[in-house]
Amino acid sequence: MKIQELPQDRLATTDERGKRVQLYPADVEGKYHARRRVVHSLLVALFLLLPWIKINGYQSILLDIAHRRFVIFGLAFWAHDAPMLVFVFGAVLIGISLLTAVKGRLWCGWGCPETVFVEFVYRQIERWIEGNAVQRKRLDQSPFSLKKIAIKGAKWAAFLVVTLIITHSFLAYFIGVEELGHWVRHSPAEHPTAFSVMAFTTAVLLFSFGWFREQFCIIMCPYGRFQSVLMDEHSLAVIYDEKRGEPRRGPDVPKAEQGDCISCYRCVQVCPTGVDIRRGVQMECVACTACIDACDEVMLNQHKEPGLISYTTLEDLSGRKPKTIRARVLILSVVLVGILAGLTYVLVTRDPLKTTAFNAKNVPFTVLEQNKSDPLVANQFFLVSSNYTFEDASIELRVADPALRDKIKLIIPTGQLKVKAGQEIKNPFLVEFHKSVLKQGRMRLQLEMVKKADEGKWQRTVTQEIPLAGPY
Ligand code: SF4
Ligand code: SF4
Repeated sequence: MKIQELPQDRLATTDERGKRVQLYPADVEGKYHARRRVVHSLLVALFLLLPWIKINGYQSILLDIAHRRFVIFGLAFWAHDAPMLVFVFGAVLIGISLLTAVKGRLWCGWGCPETVFVEFVYRQIERWIEGNAVQRKRLDQSPFSLKKIAIKGAKWAAFLVVTLIITHSFLAYFIGVEELGHWVRHSPAEHPTAFSVMAFTTAVLLFSFGWFREQFCIIMCPYGRFQSVLMDEHSLAVIYDEKRGEPRRGPDVPKAEQGDCISCYRCVQVCPTGVDIRRGVQMECVACTACIDACDEVMLNQHKEPGLISYTTLEDLSGRKPKTIRARVLILSVVLVGILAGLTYVLVTRDPLKTTAFNAKNVPFTVLEQNKSDPLVANQFFLVSSNYTFEDASIELRVADPALRDKIKLIIPTGQLKVKAGQEIKNPFLVEFHKSVLKQGRMRLQLEMVKKADEGKWQRTVTQEIPLAGPY
C-alpha cells in the first residue's frame, strides 16, 4: 500500500487501535475556496453583529429562555407562543431535508458553524502561527522544546481570545447585550452562575473548534447520519468522475490506458475529514469542495480540462438528466409549504393583545339591592390580558349590543385597563344589571373589547360571549 493510500477498513482519522489520527489538511486556493471565503466572512460578521442590531427598539434576535421571552427580527414572542415553535421547528427540519435532497450537504460545507469557524478562523490562526500543513505536522512530531512550547502557547492563547469573543457573542443571543455587559463589568464572584455558564461555553467551543474539529462531523453530528436517507443520485454532491479518471496513473497501468487521475493524492491531502473522494460519495465528506479546487489546479498544470472532481449529481455524471422534481422533493416541498402557510396564518391572525374574560369562581352573582322586586345584581369577572407587542396599550370594555348598553353596566374598579408592553395582567371587572334583564336567571352577553396601542399604531376589536347569572 502506498504511504498516501488510505486504509480500506477504517476511517482515515483512526488508527488500527481506534485511536485518533491527527489530520493536517493542506492549504488550497481556487474558485470554490474564494466563494466560501466570502460566504464564511459574511456569516461570521452576521453572527457577531446580529445581537447588536436593534429592530423596533429590541435586539434583533433574542432567545431569552430564562425569562421565556423571544425576539426574532423585531417580532416579540412569549412562552405562550410555544405552539408556534412547532411550526418553526417543523419548517427548519423539513427545509433542511429539502435542501439536502436537492443540494446535498450544502449546509455542512458552507453554513455549519463547525466548518465556518474551524476552516476560516481557527485553521487560519494555526497557519499564521504554526505554518503550513507540513510545518504543523513536523512541529507536532518534534520533541518538546522551549520553541515548541512558545508556538503552541501562542496558538492556544490566540484560540482562547477568539473563543471568548465567540462565546460572548453566542451568549448575547440568549441573555441580551445589556445583560452581557453587566456580566462583563462585574466580578465573577458577584455572579458565579453566569461566570460558570461563560466558562463552560468557552471550554466547549475551544475544545470543538480548537481540537475536536472533523471528529464532530464524523462522530457526533446527527445531521451527517441522515445523509444517506435524504440524498439520492439526483442530489448535488462532490463527486469524482470515475469514467474519466480511471484507470488512474500507476506503475502497472500502461500510459496509453491511463485515465486523467495522476494519483497525486492532492485531493486527499487537502481534505479536512481525511476522505479519498475517488472511492465514491462518502458519509464523512462534508462537501467543503477543497478537493475540487485542488484537483482543478492539478488538471490545469497537466494541461487537462478541470472538473475531474466536481460539484454535480451521479445522474449527471452518468449522462442522464438529473431530475429536480422528484417524489421526495415534491413531498417535502408540499409539507414545507403547508407548514409555512400555517405559520403565516398564525402570525397574521395573532392577536397583539390577547384578552380573555372569565367568571370569578365560587360566587356566581351578588344581589346588591335585596328588598326590591327587580334587584340590582352584580357578576364578577376577571380579564386576563397579555400584551405581546412593544407598546403600552389600553383596553375598553363595552356591551356589544347597543340596545343593552343602558341596562347592563361594566364597572372596572381600577378605572381603566392598561397593559404595558410585554405585560400579562389580570384585572377584575363587574357587570351590573337588574334581575329583569335575565331570562330564567341566565343570559349570554356579547362583550366587546376594543384594544388600542397608546401610540395609536394598531387597534383591534374582538368580542367574547360571557355568561351572566342572577336570582330566578
Ligand atoms: S487531485 Fe485529481 S489527479 Fe490528483 S489524485 Fe486526486 S483526483 Fe487524482
Ligand atoms: S472529499 Fe472533498 S468535498 Fe468532501 S470533505 Fe474532503 S475535500 Fe471536502
